Amino acid sequence: MHEKKLAYIERLAECHSKKQFSKEILDTLSNDKLLNDLLFYYREARLQHNDNDPLLTRSYGRRLNADRKLIMEPAITRLFSNYLGVYDIKYQDDAKFAICLTHDVDHIYPPIHHTALSLFYCLKALNPKRYHEYISWNYKGKEYSPYINFSNIMDVEEKYNAKSSFYFLATESDIKGSRYEIEVLENELCNIMDKDWEIGLHGGYYTFNNLDNMKLEKKRLEQVLGTKISGYRNHYLQFKIPDTWELLSKAGFKYDTTFGYNDMVGFRNGICCPFNPFNIHDCDTIDILEIPLNIMDSSLFGMAKSPKDAWDITKKCIDMTERYQGTLTLLWHNNTFNNPFRDTWSKLYEKILRYCNEKNAWMTSANMICRNLRR
Ligand SMILES: [Zn+2]
Repeated sequence: MHEKKLAYIERLAECHSKKQFSKEILDTLSNDKLLNDLLFYYREARLQHNDNDPLLTRSYGRRLNADRKLIMEPAITRLFSNYLGVYDIKYQDDAKFAICLTHDVDHIYPPIHHTALSLFYCLKALNPKRYHEYISWNYKGKEYSPYINFSNIMDVEEKYNAKSSFYFLATESDIKGSRYEIEVLENELCNIMDKDWEIGLHGGYYTFNNLDNMKLEKKRLEQVLGTKISGYRNHYLQFKIPDTWELLSKAGFKYDTTFGYNDMVGFRNGICCPFNPFNIHDCDTIDILEIPLNIMDSSLFGMAKSPKDAWDITKKCIDMTERYQGTLTLLWHNNTFNNPFRDTWSKLYEKILRYCNEKNAWMTSANMICRNLRR
């Protein structure tokens, strides 16, 4: 175990800056509590244990009362940078850092509670016209649903020289009943691909520990697209360490971007860059790239006290990623856009794009981040 852990730290160091630690530093690091807690999931194991959950079973993307200060900083990247300098990764157009933009497509038609909330917000804002527009798909036709809005999202991103990834569900079973049939979106999916944005699989709620479902859902989406996909994120961030990574690798995925928290933003294992995960079963590296999820819209607004606080938290994460020349991954659901009661969320998204564009960040899809690292 000890030798394999050392080898894993060495490999990460090489990915970090193509440099190596001296033997003394490597020994010190391998006994470092913080490093063991984050890189080898000791902390997650303890928290799961305290939560009466068996060791590293389903983490559900819950932070489990984690120390906020610890998660809000990329502690391992900082530790490595002390010895090795900042990341030595070349990004496109000489950008200093990267922003990975992603969208999970949970709904393509507003569910009843969204319609009710929209009515409430539009009435409060004395804007009945807006509500009328929001519900007009009911008589105009399903294709006019406000959540079939992928072109609008791409238009906003294009303004700031950005691209993104869309993750679509292709499952029959969901915790809240059936969501949508992926086949009805064929034209929309072709349009996304023609524009060179990415499409990946949003694995079903129960899929995170089921290889057959991963393969079936992948195949179903690929049949509609007529091409292979490489990326994955599980619905509700359901995840099992390290099994989900192993299964995804077996199912033929090149990368995953589920590893984050549902109820907190930040750096789950302290790294602000994609990495190959460590397998605590056989102590080897798993052949899949993890592009960790750092900021999800709902978790950000769930923890922020105000829109200003949400921006301050986001800006802090962006500035920190710029300092270490890493990659920051954002998730803004498609139903955040064209949605009266989530105007604040979609406005913040555009503010982020503007800010990162001014900083000359490389704002792109997850498969482009993956390809850039594999070069
Ligand atoms: Zn989802």
